[in-house]
Amino acid sequence: MSLCPRINIDLEKIRHNARTLTECCNHLGIQVAGVTKAFSGTPEIAAAFIEGGVSMLADSRIENLKKLNHLEIPKILLRLPMISQIGEVVQYADISLNSELKTIEKLSAEALRKKKKHQIILMVDLGDLREGILEENLLEIVGRILKLEGIILMGLGTNLTCYGGVIPNKKNLGRLVKMTKTIEKEFKIKFKVLSGGNSSSWYLIENGDMPKEINHLRLGEAILLGRETAFGNTIPNTYQDAFIFTAEIIELKEKPSLPMGEIGMDAFGNKPHFEDRGIRKRGILAAGKQDVVIESLTPIDEDIELVGGSSDHLLIDITNSKKKYEVGDQIDFYVGYGALLQLITSEYVCKNIINYSN
Ligand SMILES: *Cc1c(COP(=O)(O)O)cnc(C)c1O
Repeated sequence: MSLCPRINIDLEKIRHNARTLTECCNHLGIQVAGVTKAFSGTPEIAAAFIEGGVSMLADSRIENLKKLNHLEIPKILLRLPMISQIGEVVQYADISLNSELKTIEKLSAEALRKKKKHQIILMVDLGDLREGILEENLLEIVGRILKLEGIILMGLGTNLTCYGGVIPNKKNLGRLVKMTKTIEKEFKIKFKVLSGGNSSSWYLIENGDMPKEINHLRLGEAILLGRETAFGNTIPNTYQDAFIFTAEIIELKEKPSLPMGEIGMDAFGNKPHFEDRGIRKRGILAAGKQDVVIESLTPIDEDIELVGGSSDHLLIDITNSKKKYEVGDQIDFYVGYGALLQLITSEYVCKNIINYSN
């Protein structure tokens, strides 16, 4: 495959990562929902998740769940539903995460209209300050939800580390467990699901610190990049290179490291700073900020330095590289989460799906 720029997607590595994580989780009685939003719900990758053992798929956008409609597995809408999309939510998601009674009432009405039940997980804010109801309102809201005939309340969930950077631990997840017990006692019900977060909760599994009542996790990055997100550590027995970004050299020249002339704003309104390192061997690659979050790339050739970029250009310094690069050569990068999101979304980047085992 010579099309460039491209993202190479190794389905066998993704399958392997999914298998490693789901086996660990299932051992502890935890179900894994594989989160598909970082790859825009590409069906081939979602299928690799399923082959790797996830028991549900989850995405923040209904447009992505639609693409997965043919895969027979429960699907979760992760972002709180828009009232303007209620019809599609009930049609394409079996489960949605919720925190607004008004929305839940609309979901119930829509489910009854479609002669269905819609399942929800009620989100509780444990301090990260993104979505979720606060503890003091919990009992009242649960009481009202339980009266809605089109809704099945599966249980509680929480999301951490996404906005406030709050790390999940025994203490805050312990609060969620306690709230669950209070509700179950008060209303004489038994919840099916206690959803303990995203890839930032993974380290609790490795440390043996996950509260035993937590029986559900929603994992995206941990499967895709083999990395937990509370501390950024790699996960044992997983691949970090299931996704590789490749871009082509379109200029290669010796140039000074210090721009010549008065320095104003760059193309993005920032005033750049430079260090004088003398004459360097620099390359320009044909990809830029329209395609990828540059800071989230790591060159596979460790002797290449990523210098920066603009909308359509990526600048590298190859002075220290042992390889003899030429114009037309292709340079490979490991991708982080931000790069992955944008590469998959950019219409200029070719998606090269590799599936060795088929
Ligand atoms: C994105 C998201 C996830 C998955 O996050 P990862 O860090 O990729 O594991 C889980 N839950 C919710 C609510 C999300 O929005």
